[in-house]
Amino acid sequence: MSLIQPVRGMRDLLPSETAAWRALEAAAARCFAAYGYREARTPVLEKTELFARQLGEHTDVVQKEMYAFTDGGGENLTLRPEATVAVVRAALAAGLHRAPPPARLFYSGAMFRRERPQKGRYRQFHQFGAEALGAPAPEIDAEIILMCRRLFAMCGVEDRLTLVINNLGSAEERAAHRGKLRDYFRAHINDLDEASRARVDDNPLRILDSKNAQTQAIAAAAPRLAPGKESAAHFDSVKRLLDAAKLRYEEDAALVRGLDYYNLTVFEWRAPDDRRQNAVCGGGRYDGLAESIGGPPLAGCGFAAGVERLLAEMEAANSPTPKPTPSLQVAAIDEGDALGAFALNIAERLRAASLARGGDDVEITRPPADGGGAGRRIKKASGAGATHIALVGEDELRAREVTIKRLADGAQEKFAVEDVDEILAFVGAPLRD
Ligand code: AMP
Repeated sequence: MSLIQPVRGMRDLLPSETAAWRALEAAAARCFAAYGYREARTPVLEKTELFARQLGEHTDVVQKEMYAFTDGGGENLTLRPEATVAVVRAALAAGLHRAPPPARLFYSGAMFRRERPQKGRYRQFHQFGAEALGAPAPEIDAEIILMCRRLFAMCGVEDRLTLVINNLGSAEERAAHRGKLRDYFRAHINDLDEASRARVDDNPLRILDSKNAQTQAIAAAAPRLAPGKESAAHFDSVKRLLDAAKLRYEEDAALVRGLDYYNLTVFEWRAPDDRRQNAVCGGGRYDGLAESIGGPPLAGCGFAAGVERLLAEMEAANSPTPKPTPSLQVAAIDEGDALGAFALNIAERLRAASLARGGDDVEITRPPADGGGAGRRIKKASGAGATHIALVGEDELRAREVTIKRLADGAQEKFAVEDVDEILAFVGAPLRD
């Protein structure tokens, strides 16, 4: 029988990758905390209606990509394709918007979209993102964008990414623009690609996003949204704030974003090449969203970044990978009962000391007994990926000492077994407070 495979477009993350994921998640949480954003965790499964209307009934996500099903009790449920609407729902349900605004929340987790899998595009992918609720001022748009820049700087990819921004105008201005676009594209319908033709009536804004060359040429001459005075002033303020923070950006009238709930500022951070999947992060303002899910009128602004795509950028940028986790093997030479118990005791002392001082980044393992001598134990420890080995034999047992060897260069030192802090320092275990 052949091994059962994971679902197409979904993949396992194994220890060779999870260390980098954890480091990135920790960096993101630190970055968001520095801006006052606190974590929210919402369910992976939500009522289908939460997404259907808010994301837009005519969007690709809702029409084709949702993992939607009816459960045993007849409820229509969907694996979340994104987290913004759920985070807004959760904040409203808990009344977080009643505290002095804005409510600042961040999240991270798996999202599900039944897209065609390809490099950088998965059916289960991961995002982290942040939402600021109850904040109509342009400062918040700028804060969110600057927070993205800070995170990218921490990841060593700031210089690789281009920020693209656009002004979608108010909901009313968008509706008027949609009408004009519909008329324009109807007049050119025979020259559009098939997918765009199907969008003319329901979602003409998305045609601006088409990757088809001929459609792009037609879209380039389409009527532009003319933001009203207030919308233009908001967007100008955002740009002024970005200028003041010395953040470079491009303006692109074709940036419409895939989801319907956006208004005013939208933005995207793009990877340098022309790969189709070059959006690393996207976001914008969604002032009508809270009301559309049954809450009070509440301005909002947020973003989501793709973890897989950010990690790919970090790899491309050769961002220094975290140094190897200190990993100590505690091995006994010619292991017998007494030596085995002594080695186990040392390992336990070191684990307790490491955990007690807040360190969780040191690995202390006991290799299986194999009756071998020092040379063979060292070789096996290297093969198992250990950075250090603690060797104990009869002499060490008698003197209650332990010799620690650093495998990279062979340097070694002898310690009394009680000197756990010195041992951990030699191994390079991180100290936290
Ligand atoms: P969105 O929620 O569509 O605005 O997407 C925000 C970010 O999530 C994108 O910029 C990507 O980095 C990432 N993303 C979206 N869809 C996928 C996918 N199918 N696979 C991997 N990453 C994705």
